[in-house]
Amino acid sequence: MKSKGISGKSIEYVANKEGIGPDCIAEGVSSGKVVILKHKKTWLGVGQGLRTKINANIGTSPDVDDIELEMQKLKAACENGADAVMDLSTGENTVKVLEQVVGRSPVPVGTVPIYQAAVESIEEKGALRKMDPEKLFGVIEKHAKCGVSFTTLHCGITMGTLERLRKNPRKSMVVSRGGAFLISWMIANGRENPLYEHFDRVLDIAGKYGLVLSLGDGMRPGGMADSTDSAQLDELLTLGELTKRAWEAGVQVIIEGPGHIPINEIAANVILQKKICHGAPFYVLGPLVTDIAPGYDHIVAAIGGAVAGMNGADFLCYVTPSEHLGLPGIDEVVEGTVAARIAAHAADIGKGLRGAVEWDFMMDEARTRRDWNAQKKLSVNPSRFEKIRSKAVAGSDDVCTMCGKYCAIKTVEKYLKTKVIC
Ligand code: SF4
Repeated sequence: MKSKGISGKSIEYVANKEGIGPDCIAEGVSSGKVVILKHKKTWLGVGQGLRTKINANIGTSPDVDDIELEMQKLKAACENGADAVMDLSTGENTVKVLEQVVGRSPVPVGTVPIYQAAVESIEEKGALRKMDPEKLFGVIEKHAKCGVSFTTLHCGITMGTLERLRKNPRKSMVVSRGGAFLISWMIANGRENPLYEHFDRVLDIAGKYGLVLSLGDGMRPGGMADSTDSAQLDELLTLGELTKRAWEAGVQVIIEGPGHIPINEIAANVILQKKICHGAPFYVLGPLVTDIAPGYDHIVAAIGGAVAGMNGADFLCYVTPSEHLGLPGIDEVVEGTVAARIAAHAADIGKGLRGAVEWDFMMDEARTRRDWNAQKKLSVNPSRFEKIRSKAVAGSDDVCTMCGKYCAIKTVEKYLKTKVIC
């Protein structure tokens, strides 16, 4: 594939960041297995052979519509290691929020254009079913012009997918918000998905602005009972076909994936996505490996994210402790971001990514030396480290309150230094 908008400079930049040769990046891009997201004067590589990346979702809702709060969440997510952010605003002034997010974000920004198209259509015309497809294409182009790097578009839902869903009903029918807007419009109007029907138009816009398409999974399962079912796979098959069309047009593609899936199905889901979508980067939303832990869904998603990443997923969307309960606040954004980073790093160790486990080796050595300053610097969240460590200094400050004077490391160190006489 000859990607539109990919310069030699961007390949060099990504190669430097990843610590691998530019030829590998160029080869990944030309095969479609690596995408490069552009943001202002920086680039982010996502895909096979690269560090597993994480995304943090921010954005207003109709009930919590506070731009300044979202800016603080943006800052918190980026300071804690988010590689990308998605603005999922559905509050009153989505345009203003997006401009500020793009303007202030140091990392690539993604959006789901149907949110704005649906919200504005409901406000202007009183009903989602009255949304003009022109509105949707207009919003996609506006986001691209505004400087958005990637957009989620649910191009793979077709009338055939809906028929499959009807014949094989789920416990949780549709949980994707963008998917729900689109499906409701299709059913109300008895019309095919405009993003599927006019996919060439989507490609024209993406090609013109260098926008990366994140082909959405509107049929992602919303619970353990619905995982890897016919509607999910139907959409995935279509996404595989659309991926080829996008590559023929020189447009970069990421494929979005589930969702809620039992841990034993994650590897199969990654294999299916990679095979059906010809190796395009896989962006997983979690996945969540159980449905019974509201308040702890960042942990649930980190378990799924680590397993998915280890099996080849390239990009993890964070989940916060507020998932299924409400819009996250700043603390939940931090928790979600750190949990996703841990999952991504664990995945990179499992993938055998060069340089990943060396970070752990440094921590192991600092622990053995009881070098608390080095441990803090190496920790994924130094402020959390400091908070707990400050309350855990034992009598001797080179141990901690866990074992105190019986510090295992210190004890063995002392005896290993003793000459053994037989
Ligand atoms: S006191 Fe126990 S937990 Fe603390 S550093 Fe020593 S061995 Fe580790």
